Amino acid sequence: MPAYVVGHKSPDTDSVCAAIALADLKSKLGVESKPAVQEDINDESKFVLDKFGVGAPEKVSDASDKQIFLVDHSDLSQTIDNLDKGELLGIVDHHKVGDVTTNNPIEVWTWPVGCTCTVLKNMYDFYNVELPKDLAGIMLCAILSDTVIFKSATCTDEDKKVGEELAKKAGVSDLTSLGMEMFKVKSAIEGTPIRDLVHRDYKDFDMSGNKVGIGQLEVVDLSLLDSVKEDLANDIKSIKGEGDYHSVFLLLTDIMKEGSELLMATDDPSVVEKAFGAKPDGEKAWLDGVMSRKKQVVPNFEKAFSS
Ligand code: MG
Ligand code: MG
Ligand code: MG
Repeated sequence: MPAYVVGHKSPDTDSVCAAIALADLKSKLGVESKPAVQEDINDESKFVLDKFGVGAPEKVSDASDKQIFLVDHSDLSQTIDNLDKGELLGIVDHHKVGDVTTNNPIEVWTWPVGCTCTVLKNMYDFYNVELPKDLAGIMLCAILSDTVIFKSATCTDEDKKVGEELAKKAGVSDLTSLGMEMFKVKSAIEGTPIRDLVHRDYKDFDMSGNKVGIGQLEVVDLSLLDSVKEDLANDIKSIKGEGDYHSVFLLLTDIMKEGSELLMATDDPSVVEKAFGAKPDGEKAWLDGVMSRKKQVVPNFEKAFSS
């Protein structure tokens, strides 16, 4: 049986493309591997795979009796079910180290960069394995997505350098227009159920013993969400009621204005002021310059919850 490479729940383009790339690399290095996703891929990822003619990973949601590589996460709350009943072989990631544990020594590549695919490009170079052109294209898209076209606070010089190298390899000359094409697909909300919008890019966190859910919608213009904002606000209240949550937040990120409106359903709105110094206006707050959940939102909330 092959090993499976899988990213986090609510798969984003990095989780999908990093899984495809690591499975390719591992297989070429003699460890037969297949890419997988835990849940259906989103429209942005579909667009990216179509654009470069790459097939979608198969859906695998249970790790029992399987060998597993994780990409783009190492948190139990985001990982595949029954990871402890399978065998974890390695992790490639760009987030804070999470809470997965192992009985055996494993391979871990985690770098403080903007995208897992930036690490993966370096792995191809390290092992001296030729990177296929189509995979260079999808990995470039993952970087453009995760770094919001190199504008996010998470973006590093390494992401930019690798992005340029991948663009050359993939034959892409205009990175910004490719990025905008992707974000237009990502901004589309027509016909999408409200809950799917909230869960499009959603993660649960444990913050000092409090369960906190944080979703994010990235759009090219916030006004695109005007017609659904009230429904989104009501739905995060429902989600909070359905689970054992202290707070459920939804970031509506405007990638052109470079800031986010935060919608909140919380037991204690003062954590928002503590975290960002921004006084909530009712159940929302504008966070100027905040675009990254990972680098700006999660650490600030963690601090606010622990104080
Ligand atoms: Mg991700
Ligand atoms: Mg990522
Ligand atoms: Mg993301």
